[in-house]
Amino acid sequence: MRDPGSELNKLREENLYRELKHGASATGRTFHSENLSLVNFSSNDYLGFGAHEDIKEAVTETTATFGVGSGSSRMLSGGTTPHLLIEKETANFFGKDSSLFFANGYGAALGTLGAILQKGDTVILDKLCHASLIDGSRLSGATVRTFPHNNIDRLRKILNSINGPDQKENRILIVTEGIFSMDGDSSPIKEIIKLKEQHQALLLLDEAHSFGIIGENGKGIAHKEKLIHGVDFLMTTFGKSAGAAGSVTVSSDTWIKLILNRARSFIYSTAPMPSQAAAALAGLKLIRGSVGEERRISLHRNIDQLCNELQTPKPQGAIIPLIIGDELETLKVSAKLRKRGILAPAIRYPTVAKGAARIRITISANHSENDIALLAQTIKPSLIST
Ligand SMILES: *Cc1c(COP(=O)(O)O)cnc(C)c1O
Repeated sequence: MRDPGSELNKLREENLYRELKHGASATGRTFHSENLSLVNFSSNDYLGFGAHEDIKEAVTETTATFGVGSGSSRMLSGGTTPHLLIEKETANFFGKDSSLFFANGYGAALGTLGAILQKGDTVILDKLCHASLIDGSRLSGATVRTFPHNNIDRLRKILNSINGPDQKENRILIVTEGIFSMDGDSSPIKEIIKLKEQHQALLLLDEAHSFGIIGENGKGIAHKEKLIHGVDFLMTTFGKSAGAAGSVTVSSDTWIKLILNRARSFIYSTAPMPSQAAAALAGLKLIRGSVGEERRISLHRNIDQLCNELQTPKPQGAIIPLIIGDELETLKVSAKLRKRGILAPAIRYPTVAKGAARIRITISANHSENDIALLAQTIKPSLIST
């Protein structure tokens, strides 16, 4: 039998070993632990809502009214008014009929893909799609195909190869992201929708890193590009810009009814706490309101400042990857940053491909001008020396 100790040793030898750190707070801007205070450039709390009073209050008030635990699956008696409200409000916000709330994005991806797809169907993913989308696709039983990152020609070739008369009953689902989580770039949604329509396929778009920070009221990329009509399933999480936790899949009424009847991560799991649904709703309200607008302005100002100082092109989202390649080199750069007061962990395989290790910088509206200046000064030399 394989010995777990030697498996761990192998990870250490390959510089792929990971361990946890525990902070004393989760405010997005700084990370405190072991009498060390670091400026946090690794949080996805892009708008700095993680510790916002409105979200804290929503949790406290909902707990007072509904208690803590939901007690059972939504299918039994676990659903409460906050669950209904977050679904109603997100459907409205994204301009679709219906929405289903999950405990987290990982579970939403597994449940949604498993509900839509079955054996005989084909799911086509961008090669850089998030692990949750890959795992959900694999679990669904559908044939899984991938196309090189943002490569429309290859996507077209795959679609051409599967479109036959015997495909009428089978579904073809294209899966991509608004902003890619480890590379920070966006996808050519317009071209993908055109292809999707030609081939009678469906499109699932994961807006985890674009919701809240891009487009009018933070509605994300599909809305910004006026392409929401071409998106069959929009997914997002409340764990990032909304400063809370949970996730929704938003779609037509019929699709959402099917998903709630089939999604195993939804059916066979205790409903998220009522306070979690309320926290997500409070996050959504902040995002779409004037506070959200102010924070988006600060966030984009911070991104501008960093890109100006580094003389790099501005990304659409708030993720800036410094691709170094070698795992050990990347760990060294991360340690160097830590010594200068900056938390920016090394991202390695299997999150990204082997030999494509990187420092993933995420910017928050809560960072100050000095924070950004410190980051720019510190990473400039490491960019040059590696
Ligand atoms: C973070 C993330 C998820 C998972 O969402 P959680 O709520 O954190 O489970 C799914 N998709 C993408 C693209 C993500 O970045």
